[in-house]
Amino acid sequence: MDKLRVRAYNVRFGDAILVSVPDKTSAGVKKMRHILIDVGNALGGKNEGGLDTVFEPVVKNILEVLDGVEHVHRISAPYKLAGRAFRPQGTVIQFANGLKIGGEEVVVMAGPCSVESREQLFTVAEQIAKAGARVMRGGAFKPRSSPYSFQGMGLEGLKLLREAGDKFNMLVISEVMEISQIEVMLPYIDIFQVGARNMQNFNLLRELGKVRKPVLLKRGIAATLEELLLSGEYIMSGGNYEVIFCERGIRTFETYTRNTLDVSAIPIIKKLSHLPMTSDPSHGTGLRDKVPPMACASLAAGADALLMEVHHNPDKALSDGAQSLYPEQFAKLMDQLRMIAPAIGRKIA
Ligand code: PEP
Ligand code: MN
Repeated sequence: MDKLRVRAYNVRFGDAILVSVPDKTSAGVKKMRHILIDVGNALGGKNEGGLDTVFEPVVKNILEVLDGVEHVHRISAPYKLAGRAFRPQGTVIQFANGLKIGGEEVVVMAGPCSVESREQLFTVAEQIAKAGARVMRGGAFKPRSSPYSFQGMGLEGLKLLREAGDKFNMLVISEVMEISQIEVMLPYIDIFQVGARNMQNFNLLRELGKVRKPVLLKRGIAATLEELLLSGEYIMSGGNYEVIFCERGIRTFETYTRNTLDVSAIPIIKKLSHLPMTSDPSHGTGLRDKVPPMACASLAAGADALLMEVHHNPDKALSDGAQSLYPEQFAKLMDQLRMIAPAIGRKIA
């Protein structure tokens, strides 16, 4: 016997860990058993007198550095609610207007990076709605790398989003940057967007767990997929099960593009989780002409929705102009997406 099976429990879910021990003599295994039981007790566990010891699920890295432990292998996912096993059939998020995210139909969300003015928003809104966007995006609170860059229109921007969304029959998604904005945004938006920079803002995630509106959670620029799933778990553990994941590019050594869109994240998250998985090829590439091919690739890879930036005059955009599609380009892309979708058994909503 070269392995000890240690069961770890938390209040709601069983969690199992396998520990391999290089000293395979029965004395070595026995010694390790006692060490594990001691660690379990020290962590507030309950020694049940045998191999089974009560641990907290975070124990893996504590066990890993113990003398005599060769390898610790987690045999159950640490994300219990976000994991596929929780709802093997998959989650479909349904909106009051009948739109669904996570079902057979793929939803296109589009709009400017930032809400800049009534004229700008209504001009773009009309064009994207005509081309087939079902959700309008637009930042009212903007996370900018520089404090001197345009920071967004705030509440005024939210009001414009709601008005334009209602006028052109689109739902509205906008980014929430901090807890105090949740209350302010609730009456105006249909989906909260958590940006890449806030993927691990755990206090914000916990608060979003208390609301009853879907949250689109973007992957952080240096986040692993397990970290993304665990951030989704934060929201779900608060009671909000309507989480939508989004790949928006990660930082790599490549400098040609703004970020590297990890298309493989789409089938991986679809396998590991029951939650809808989406892609943002705009931030994922940073380059307008690279957005359509990566949007097509994301659709083919199984994305449940696409999030893209479109501006009627991108050269004058106050943020992210270089990656914003021209409205005609967006309309052409929509036609391509409608041709690709049936090839993988889907439709564009
Ligand atoms: C955005 O959607 O405009 C945005 C800031 O996205 P991200 O958080 O992915 O950078
Ligand atoms: Mn942007």
